[in-house]
Amino acid sequence: MNYTNGKELLDICKENNMTIYDVALHNECKTSLLNKEEVYLKMKYHLDIMKNGITRGLDVNEKNIKGFMIGGEAKKLKRYYENNKSVCGKTMSKAVSYALSMMEVNVSMGRIVACPTAGSCGVLPAVLIAVMEKFKLDEDIVINGLLTSSAVGIIIGKNACLSGAEGGCQAEVGSASAMAAAATVEMLGGSPEQALNASAIALKNLMGLICDPVAGLVESPCAKRNAIGTSNAMISAEMALAGISSIIPFDEVVIAMGKVGKMLPVSLRETSEGGIATTPTGIKLKKQIFG
Ligand code: SF4
Repeated sequence: MNYTNGKELLDICKENNMTIYDVALHNECKTSLLNKEEVYLKMKYHLDIMKNGITRGLDVNEKNIKGFMIGGEAKKLKRYYENNKSVCGKTMSKAVSYALSMMEVNVSMGRIVACPTAGSCGVLPAVLIAVMEKFKLDEDIVINGLLTSSAVGIIIGKNACLSGAEGGCQAEVGSASAMAAAATVEMLGGSPEQALNASAIALKNLMGLICDPVAGLVESPCAKRNAIGTSNAMISAEMALAGISSIIPFDEVVIAMGKVGKMLPVSLRETSEGGIATTPTGIKLKKQIFG
């Protein structure tokens, strides 16, 4: 079932009365030569890595190998929302703590699933697992969500880009957020159209976001951008499930994001030559780390 953009994917879903995850599963079986059960087992393996990462980051004060910029924030947020009135509500706060947790595991060289990249590895696990816990969903439904997200990621990768070096953080965390938004919609019974509306909204909300890691390390602003990608995915999914459409269709948003990425100067695409990387504090931190 070949598709190169969202419209073609929706046409396939409509003609065959399928969800996006049905199409993704069909294609995965075909290309991997695995049967449905084997694909689910493979996806469960990845889901388990995500779950373990979240637990590990929340239980341990992770410090990266240089013991520097991030570590322990996930635990702090958890302690806060468990003992205080949460500004965002428990589900959102919990999801954000999960995103921070995954990023702490990432910088400490722990095992993560790069989905779509290591720098944005917090968003998808955070959203999917927080939603799974809130609605007490079966693991198979979450795996369906992962399959939905893969279809969205493939379209963005084909028509724009997925890396900060190529298109800025909008391409990395923005894409992760769009993938998680669509996954949430289908996990909660929304239609394929609603899923791509959620993706379009999520991608638009982060459009233009630059990539400017302090000292060239995927820590700051990356961890907190995963937090915003997480909350953005949840907000976008909520709007789409409520029947709110993206005024600009998904495919057009993807193309626009790719074009914005190409317009970004090299200094704002992972080179650490602009943005917060070149603030006085950013430069000071770089000197402290690398001498
Ligand atoms: S700022 Fe750059 S390195 Fe950090 S998460 Fe965003 S795209 Fe990745």
